[in-house]
Amino acid sequence: MFEELSARFEDAVKGLRGQAKISDTNVEDALKQVRRALLGADVSLEVVREFVEEVRQKAVGAEVVRGVTPDQKFVQVVHQQLVEVMGGDNAPMAEAEDSPTVVLMAGLQGAGKTTATAKLGLHLKDQGQRPLMVAADVYRPAAIDQLRTLGEQIGVDVFSLGDDVKPEEIAAAGLAKAREEGFDTLLVDTAGRLQIDTEMMEEMVRIRSAVEPDEVLLVVDSMIGQEAAELTRAFHDKVGITGSVLTKLDGDSRGGAALSIRKVSGQPIKFIGTGEKVEALQPFHPERMASRILGMGDVLTLVEKAQKEVELADVEKMQKKLQEASFDFSDFLQQMRLIKRMGSLGGLIKMMPGMNKLDDGMLKQGEQQLKRIEAMIGSMTADERNQPELLASQPSRRRRIAGGSGHSPADVDKVLADFQKMRGFMQQMSKGGGMPGMPGMPG
Ligand code: GDP
Repeated sequence: MFEELSARFEDAVKGLRGQAKISDTNVEDALKQVRRALLGADVSLEVVREFVEEVRQKAVGAEVVRGVTPDQKFVQVVHQQLVEVMGGDNAPMAEAEDSPTVVLMAGLQGAGKTTATAKLGLHLKDQGQRPLMVAADVYRPAAIDQLRTLGEQIGVDVFSLGDDVKPEEIAAAGLAKAREEGFDTLLVDTAGRLQIDTEMMEEMVRIRSAVEPDEVLLVVDSMIGQEAAELTRAFHDKVGITGSVLTKLDGDSRGGAALSIRKVSGQPIKFIGTGEKVEALQPFHPERMASRILGMGDVLTLVEKAQKEVELADVEKMQKKLQEASFDFSDFLQQMRLIKRMGSLGGLIKMMPGMNKLDDGMLKQGEQQLKRIEAMIGSMTADERNQPELLASQPSRRRRIAGGSGHSPADVDKVLADFQKMRGFMQQMSKGGGMPGMPGMPG
């Protein structure tokens, strides 16, 4: 899977080996290769452009952490971007409040729809559910028999009314049976066509109206590469899909579909098919897929560890500053960034006067307050950041910062007063030792 892409990424990274840091110039070569790698993998052009741009920004501005070389950092940035472009987290399948959960399987003929229906049936059965598969593909000869055979093989019931009945009627009758007999999930296999056509779309819309599905899964053959993105977009516009199943990844050495679908269509890939056998289905995890594509898991672990160590050292330094009340605006900014990276502003907000008892409304208010402070700090000179006292004694400085950050002088006065209060408050707390909401150690 994705061997070609993996090899090309490796070349891109090699160029940065032995460099002292990632710079505007040396990153260009690496980016060019990333671009070439993605285009070679048949990733859609709009996705490639954005991907390269994001990697450029994140890589060039990246902090250099001790123990991590530029090429390793670059791997991490590319990995992050791969995860993002594929949708971030795993998107689980919808579950209806009242069973059955109704799942409509859509897609072109030959995409692997019938196979995917059975694979999903087995997957659900393995989870202890009782699914019912409905054979509503009355268009492709033998599709109904194929589903029946697969149903027998995996021990999942199949409902069919032959191929003389309208698909929407078959689907509706299947739903009635599932309700009556207490099935948990209804999987409706529908008819595809060789290409997108109006008849197929209209049929899908009719079936959708008949059974009101909780999930419309578009089954996409990954071998069609970047065309998958357009296909998904078209289905989503006309029928409205909730996700996709990417099939035949076992034969895909390029990866264009996997990387293009989500970004272009806005719909998550929920499952992947990795073989002809009914067992060959997996929930899609962008993170795992990205690691697989890059094939450099050890590098990622190393970068993460080094980053954590540096963060710990920062926290210790910060603790000392707090105790000495020498915490200034530069520290504040650094602390904000650190905490943002660690995923929660809550810890920092808790340090602000009046913000220690948090609810969601307050958290929002606190975040806005932090943004204001950040803007003001942005308008300060280095001296002012490092010596907040300068601001207390010189109103002209406060007026300049107000103007520069788009706030009123009164806002700046208020922030300064809060900052002084916070500093005193933090000093007290850090002297008291082991306190809960220590910045950098949320929770
Ligand atoms: P449908 O027309 O969309 O219902 O497609 P089918 O389910 O009949 O699948 C078409 C062909 O693709 C069959 O030969 C399947 O065995 C094959 N197929 C489906 N999914 C996969 C997969 O994940 N990997 C591989 N290698 N073949 C698959």
